[in-house]
Amino acid sequence: MNTTSQLKNKPENKNVLISGASVAGPALAYWLRRHGFNPTVVERAPALRDGGYAVDFRGRAHLTVLERMGVLDDVRRARTGMGAMWYVNESGKKLAAMPADLFSGDIEILRGDLARILYEATRDDVEYVFGDSIAAMTEDEHGVEVTFERGAPRRFDLVVGADGLHSTVRSLAFGPESRYVKDLGLHCAVFTTDNFLGLDHTGHLYNTPGRLVGLYSSRNNTEAKATFYFGSPKRSYDRHDTGQQKKILAEAFAGVGWETPRLLEAMWDAPDFYFDSVSQVRVDGWSRGRAVLLGDAAACPSPLSGMGTGMAMVGAYVLAGELAAAGGDHRTAFARYEEEMRGYADGCQKGAEGTAKVMVPENRFVAWFMSQNYRLLPYVPWKGMIAKGARRTAEAITLKNYGL
Ligand SMILES: Cc1cc2nc3c(=O)[nH]c(=O)nc-3n(C[C@H](O)[C@H](O)[C@H](O)COP(=O)(O)OP(=O)(O)OC[C@H]3O[C@@H](n4cnc5c(N)ncnc54)[C@H](O)[C@@H]3O)c2cc1C
Repeated sequence: MNTTSQLKNKPENKNVLISGASVAGPALAYWLRRHGFNPTVVERAPALRDGGYAVDFRGRAHLTVLERMGVLDDVRRARTGMGAMWYVNESGKKLAAMPADLFSGDIEILRGDLARILYEATRDDVEYVFGDSIAAMTEDEHGVEVTFERGAPRRFDLVVGADGLHSTVRSLAFGPESRYVKDLGLHCAVFTTDNFLGLDHTGHLYNTPGRLVGLYSSRNNTEAKATFYFGSPKRSYDRHDTGQQKKILAEAFAGVGWETPRLLEAMWDAPDFYFDSVSQVRVDGWSRGRAVLLGDAAACPSPLSGMGTGMAMVGAYVLAGELAAAGGDHRTAFARYEEEMRGYADGCQKGAEGTAKVMVPENRFVAWFMSQNYRLLPYVPWKGMIAKGARRTAEAITLKNYGL
């Protein structure tokens, strides 16, 4: 990786600890290295988390960041190549197609494949510590003393929370999660299963009031991802107990038609299982002293927005760029990072609540009305308008060069 020398004369705050090695963390590590910083990434999972659900990039800003990182071709090669998604009825009859760009943007890729590409682009120059987590942080005038759940304590100049919706850095430096995580009234689950419907680069979605269940093919149709969304007030469960979460999902979808019983049966043996509330993160002020938030930890727009991944990548580019531009002065850099990103992040968050109501209608009448109207979807203009609106949102930032 070529590094620039902006920091040569001002080696301030070079040692940066990043919590989280999914999208935002490795992307930030890449840009920090390019600008001459010395990042360390700590990830709670014992190894890079592979596979996962599909995420997407859309519009100029997202693609420009990928291009400037030199990973655009790798990302294109790993793209899912997903076509239209079909709404189906109880017996599986296709009702209406939703165009590919609505769900999949310009490039859709499995989150784990993206994480792998970003990791490969940084692993030679960046220290990665897997299977550990920050336990405590104590800041003084010149740096941060960090203790870990497993490793020995270390000192860093700055700490970045790129550790997602349930960020540990946010809890430690900003306060309890309940202050910042806004529940959108839905839960979702995703797991990998057989492509037993023989889906060819497509997916099927089935709606009943307060429930949405779907299956889409992945990895060139060799497997499929089962997805579930259901309306529910915030529930208390153990986030590390997948057995308990599977029970909740099975109860929520008991009696739901289409292929749901088969999917629920497959769930018990799934090689992976993701379950969480559909939430947004709203933090007024993304930094506290030497700690700063990035990606979902700062401003999760929720899976329903389809914006989180691109926003995390753009945020990583901007945060590293502003740190370099300020010669490592974190006060100036964090303020400018937020100035550049805040409006963009707000735009990415906007609309997710409305999407929740349309995608998973709670009200029986609305659900019935939607199902009657699926067959009209090919003829109404708003699908195209939604896709265009999403593109406008994704492009609503002008990227500086940051001396690269
Ligand atoms: C079901 C679903 C569908 C989605 N679909 C889309 C989509 O279509 N398009 C889109 O753009 N986005 C989508 N998203 C959102 C997207 O996944 C996120 O916005 C994106 O991954 C944010 O990246 P991140 O790196 O900030 O956080 P995450 O990807 O959440 O990564 C956080 C990382 O931090 C690690 N971590 C957590 N706690 C600790 C700790 N204490 N110490 C160390 N490491 C820790 C985690 O293991 C993880 O690796 C979807 C999300 C979900 C859940």
